[in-house]
Amino acid sequence: MPELPEVETVRRGLEPAMVGARIAKVELRRGNIRFPFPPRFGERLTGQRISALARRAKYLLFQLEGRETLIVHLGMSGSFRVEAETTAPGAFHYERSKDPKHDHVVLHLDNGKTVTFNDPRRFGFMDLVETGALEGHPRISGLGDEPLAPQFGAARLAKLFLGSRAPLKAALLDQRRIAGLGNIYVCEALFRARLSPFRPAGILARAGGGPTRAAAALAKAIRAVLEEAIEAGGSTLRDHRQADGELGYFQHAFAVYDREGSPCPRCNGAIARHVQSGRSTFFCPVCQK
Ligand SMILES: [Zn+2]
Repeated sequence: MPELPEVETVRRGLEPAMVGARIAKVELRRGNIRFPFPPRFGERLTGQRISALARRAKYLLFQLEGRETLIVHLGMSGSFRVEAETTAPGAFHYERSKDPKHDHVVLHLDNGKTVTFNDPRRFGFMDLVETGALEGHPRISGLGDEPLAPQFGAARLAKLFLGSRAPLKAALLDQRRIAGLGNIYVCEALFRARLSPFRPAGILARAGGGPTRAAAALAKAIRAVLEEAIEAGGSTLRDHRQADGELGYFQHAFAVYDREGSPCPRCNGAIARHVQSGRSTFFCPVCQK
């Protein structure tokens, strides 16, 4: 499942192909993905120029010139492929599927490129909303803080979790507090901040509400793990583009995630796994207190 860095990498891969271009033709190969497409979907997209491509948590936001925004969620297996008629075919995807039977939406752009949405498991979705009403969209309105926003930091973490007795792991996964952080990067950030996933999130705030040293370490770690993963995705983009025009899902080196029993990169002890609220938590029982 793509996490925030993967979605951001997709955004950066699509941006140069799509922003400024006009959607000349829309092919819908079925009536729904996870949900039915909105009414007159193809008609509303056709003729629109894409003025910006933004991201909020794991949602891609294609801002259209004509007052509407196309919201896309990649779900479990959604991916985009960009093909240009003028140059060698290139693919942009982070999963392997290129099976045309899973190509559900094809956007033909006036710059000669086609952008194809492929989603074998069909957990992804698309919706159109008035740009001015975006913040009120049911998928967007409940989202918490954007962890890469400049104002996100230790003070904000303290404010969000003051008095919370939820374990840090569960607290950080709560999308109503922080949006877009998934299991992988929560595990990695807690390791980097040397914090046990089982400690209550309230340790991030002092009694008066100010941030603790733990909050400062965690804020720094969250930003670092996300930015490094995006950077890794970006370099994969560049490398692959040079190689054969095909852009793939990047394999980032994780310190703890999916490494049960492997040596901790810091103390050489064994990485442990523990199931917390149905999800595997990977951590170092020695380094993380
Ligand atoms: Zn360790």
